[in-house]
Amino acid sequence: MKKIDGKEVAQKVIDECKSQIAELKVKGITPGLAVVLVGEDPASKVYVGAKARKCEELGIYSKKIELPADASQEQVMQVVEDLNNDPAIDGILVQSPPPPHIDEDAIVRAINPNKDVDGFHPVNVAKLVLEDPSGFIPCTPHGCLRLLQDTGIETSGAEAVVIGRSMIVGKPMALLLMGKLGNATVTVAHSRTKDLAAVCRRADIIIAAIGKPEFVTADMVKDGAVVIDVGINRVEDSSKKSGYKLVGDVAFDEVATKCSAITPVPGGVGPMTIAMLMKNTVISASRR
Ligand code: NDP
Repeated sequence: MKKIDGKEVAQKVIDECKSQIAELKVKGITPGLAVVLVGEDPASKVYVGAKARKCEELGIYSKKIELPADASQEQVMQVVEDLNNDPAIDGILVQSPPPPHIDEDAIVRAINPNKDVDGFHPVNVAKLVLEDPSGFIPCTPHGCLRLLQDTGIETSGAEAVVIGRSMIVGKPMALLLMGKLGNATVTVAHSRTKDLAAVCRRADIIIAAIGKPEFVTADMVKDGAVVIDVGINRVEDSSKKSGYKLVGDVAFDEVATKCSAITPVPGGVGPMTIAMLMKNTVISASRR
């Protein structure tokens, strides 16, 4: 069984970004990424901090805009509008989830699609469906595909089962795998899927994006399958100082005994998401 090292592949992506950034700097261009955080969600703060640190490491100009939890829809829309008009900013993302009174869809639609480095704007979703390379591909599923490719796992002709149909992970993952980049035969499973275990046992490649700790168990996995665990779940752990630990959507220890390759949590898909975000920001800057 191979443990797929997300940190190692992410570092390769980061190194590619570094050389592209150096080329851009020669042309007088410094890529810029703006991250908007509304409210105090602790996990969101961790993600925003990690993105800012990665920008700093790479020499990407980063702008963090923090708004209070009671910020109005209009205030957030104004921030997005200002960033759309800011020539130093190539990428804009609004950290999800915002407080419940904020209409997240409206915010995403307000972002200039050319700066939508998360790839969530309807224009970029359409471009993903159309396989138009001028769009931005969502970072997490793109990172999963890159992990498979760089680990030498053949997706072409493979039976892939994606568990989850969110717009952030499941749907774009399925589109990428079924498209010309993946060439897999794809099944998308969700909470209404009948006999999920039997569906999963057909898979050469399982992508788990469910949001339920250790949901995928060994009986759901065919011998020799490849398992990519997107899940990030906090579960109580009194032995940790923080009082919790992170686990994926896959019961790692038991599934690892059956599969040919698997991503750990943490250290699998997570680092890839940030690396692909940096890549999208650099791509956007190179289109200035
Ligand atoms: P969502 O909650 O938006 O989607 C979860 C999906 O899982 C839904 O489609 C849901 O089905 C499906 N599901 C829920 N329960 C079951 C079940 N019992 N059987 C089959 N399918 C089920 O989550 P996200 O896609 O946003 O995220 C998924 C996980 O990935 C989370 O743990 C999240 O934290 C993590 N994540 C990790 C990232 C990273 O960088 N590594 C980035 C983004 C997310 P239905 O549609 O029918 O409700």
